[in-house]
Amino acid sequence: MSSGKHVVAIPFPFGGQAWALVNLVLKLAPAAPDVRFSFLNIAKSNSLIFPPPLRAKLPSNVRVYEVSDGLPDVHCGPMEHSGEHVELFLKAAPENFRAAVDAAEQDVSKKVSCFLTDALVIFAGEMAEKMQVPWVALWVPAPYCLTAHVYIDIISELHRESSGGGTSTDNDNGDDKSLGVIPRLSMMRISDLPKELIDDQDTSRSACMLREVGRVLPHGATAVVMNSYAEVTPTPLIADLKSKDPRSVAYICFGTVAMPSPSEVLAIGEALESTKTPFLWSIKERAMAFLPEGLQERTSAYGKFVPWAPQAQVLSHPVCGIYVTHCGYNSMFESVVGGVPMVCKPFWADNMMHGRMIEEVWGIGVKVKGGTITKSGMEKALEVVFRGEDGKEMRKKAGELRERLMKAAGLDGIAEADFKVLVKLIST
Ligand code: UDP
Repeated sequence: MSSGKHVVAIPFPFGGQAWALVNLVLKLAPAAPDVRFSFLNIAKSNSLIFPPPLRAKLPSNVRVYEVSDGLPDVHCGPMEHSGEHVELFLKAAPENFRAAVDAAEQDVSKKVSCFLTDALVIFAGEMAEKMQVPWVALWVPAPYCLTAHVYIDIISELHRESSGGGTSTDNDNGDDKSLGVIPRLSMMRISDLPKELIDDQDTSRSACMLREVGRVLPHGATAVVMNSYAEVTPTPLIADLKSKDPRSVAYICFGTVAMPSPSEVLAIGEALESTKTPFLWSIKERAMAFLPEGLQERTSAYGKFVPWAPQAQVLSHPVCGIYVTHCGYNSMFESVVGGVPMVCKPFWADNMMHGRMIEEVWGIGVKVKGGTITKSGMEKALEVVFRGEDGKEMRKKAGELRERLMKAAGLDGIAEADFKVLVKLIST
């Protein structure tokens, strides 16, 4: 095998995670032209993140490989998966990916010199250790979520103390306790963490996995890269937005996995109609059945339903005035980049922590009252954010946050400086 650097990139192939690693590899490849990048991923995820036009334009030093997903033949949409799928994937993954790494080494005739993987791909850390090469882990969600996983034992202890050793309920004082003792988590409460992280540490597969990430990452990874935001290519949908007044359109989307309950879908539809709010709703096909009857026809002059939207572009379009969101990390960032205030309906995992940041720390949105979307709650939220004084303030703060982000991401910003460190790490 010839000498030279060979980076193996492995994403976590479920939900919206994989895009962040693709973006990073596509930014690194031209910056480190002598380094070979082998992108190892399951076929279903590859077909989504590398559509044919992108595949045709991949830099010459990037090659994409398909790895078996370890799943039986299941019939579901490209973004759909269950906890069981994830479990089966993780069980089969170390073996499957080890074989794929061997094949990639043969293919490019270069030994692997570095693993660049999603932080959830913990087995890559073990492979890197065995092969005595660096492991650079990409943490896709918000940094404060990682902090919570690293300090999960302390958080659990705090929870035990404050709830007197009993089991938790949604609103007890134990859950409401501030995490002030933990570095950089002073703005969070125990209730902002997914319940299973605290209550089902030994039984929930995702809780075990995140606990392991929090344990392994600080010592096992050579470097941890924090995520920024993704771009998407223009589509005709954007042109539809052009006739609308600035900041007048509500965009509704709950990410790739989460789905509001039937009564919440109904409530959103009713509120959009009663307020005559122009809207674009990226809605999963199976949720369409829960819309108020005849809504599509009655709102066709000012509303549009799509199964998938070029979200980052929609949120950066001047007509977009509100984002009704599940508070996914990518989505939250895309909204910040667009300077768009949010109406938050967090579902699970990191969503609640983001909801708190959006409402209380940054002041750029409101959380849905009581955690459930109702018609009157949604009407009020639309009124406050579109026309209220609070909404004006949120828009102003969102604009300021956007400026800060742009400065960090621009030339000579902190992101560029960090990127140079990463290029050096994988090339030398
Ligand atoms: N997304 C999109 N169009 C849609 C729905 C989702 O482009 O119609 C993208 C969105 O821009 C974001 C990602 O899917 O980048 C969702 O990631 P996030 O972390 O917000 O949520 P998840 O789906 O992982 O819960």
